Amino acid sequence: MASKTRMSASEKELKKTYIDLLGNLVESLTGKMGRDILSILLDGPNINEFIIAKKLNLTINQTRNILYKLSDNGIVSFNRKKDKKKGWYTYFWTIDILKTLEFSENRILESIRNLHSQKRNRESKRFYICKTCGIEVSEETALLNNFTCTECGNVYEAQDSTDLLEDIDSKTSKFENELVKIKEHLEVERKKMGKKIEGKNKREKEKRRVARVEKKKATDKEKRKLDKKLGKKESKKKKSKPNKRK
Ligand SMILES: [Zn+2]
Repeated sequence: MASKTRMSASEKELKKTYIDLLGNLVESLTGKMGRDILSILLDGPNINEFIIAKKLNLTINQTRNILYKLSDNGIVSFNRKKDKKKGWYTYFWTIDILKTLEFSENRILESIRNLHSQKRNRESKRFYICKTCGIEVSEETALLNNFTCTECGNVYEAQDSTDLLEDIDSKTSKFENELVKIKEHLEVERKKMGKKIEGKNKREKEKRRVARVEKKKATDKEKRKLDKKLGKKESKKKKSKPNKRK
C-alpha cells in the first residue's frame, strides 16, 4: 500500500496539468479544498486518510465526508485496512483519473449544450428591460404589462443582447478548448489503461503457460514412474524371451 514518494519531471508536469484541468470540477463537488484534495490524491494510489487529514488540517471524519462526495461520483475509490491492535479501519484513497476526466467531459458537454440553447433563445426571441430596476422580461410579459415595469412604472426598453451573445460565445469557446484538452488526456489515459490490461493479460497468459508446463512435468513424472514399473515387468518379460537380439 505504499504510495509513490518521488515523481519524475513529466509526472510532476502531468499532475500540474490535471490540477488545472480538473480543479474546478473537484472544487464544485467538495468545496474550496477541492484543489488541495486533488493535488494530494494525484500523488496516489492508496493515500492514507490520516495523511490527507493532516495535510488539509481536518479531522478524519471531515476528511472522509469530503472523500465520500467524490466516491459517490465515482471519482475516487478506497481500500480499508483494519488495525488489529486498535480495532478500527484506516481508509486508503485512490483517484480514478480516467473517470474524473470522463466526468469532466460530460459536465463540459452539458455546459456547452446549455449555452447553445441560451444562444438560440436569445436569437429567436425579443427581451425587454427596465433600466431603472435592471429587471429583464420576455416579450410576452412585456406585452402583458403594457410595456410598463410592474415595480417602478417606467417604460420597458428593448433589450440589446449583443453583449450577452458575445459573452455566451466566449464562454462556449472556453469550454470547447477545455473539452479538447480533456479529450487529449482521456486518450492518453485510455491508452495507459489498455497497456495495463494488456500487461495483465500477458502476465496471466504466462501464468497459465507456466501452470501448463508444471502440470506436464508432473504428468510426465507420473508417466515415467508408471513406465518404469511397466518397464520392469516388460524387461522381465523380455528377459524371458530367449531370442532377444543384442
Ligand atoms: Zn422598473
